[in-house]
Amino acid sequence: MKIHENIIIEKQEKVIQNIFCNICGEKIHKNELGYYDDFLSIEKRWGYHSQFDDETHCIDVCQLCYKILLDNMKLKPECDN
Ligand SMILES: [Zn+2]
Repeated sequence: MKIHENIIIEKQEKVIQNIFCNICGEKIHKNELGYYDDFLSIEKRWGYHSQFDDETHCIDVCQLCYKILLDNMKLKPECDN
């Protein structure tokens, strides 16, 4: 027979404290409702024998830097509109 009791277990979780743009280094702000301004977030795990052999890169880009990036692309990304 097992006798159970309720205990409080403290659990640590990783939460996002701040987000910074990898290009300009500026903080991505939250609005008055607590939501971050929209930004580009990329996570890429590079394959074996690539230039970044098995590395994972996580990149966040603010809207202003994304616009500059977009303006400098010779071929614009395809959009659905
Ligand atoms: Zn930026």
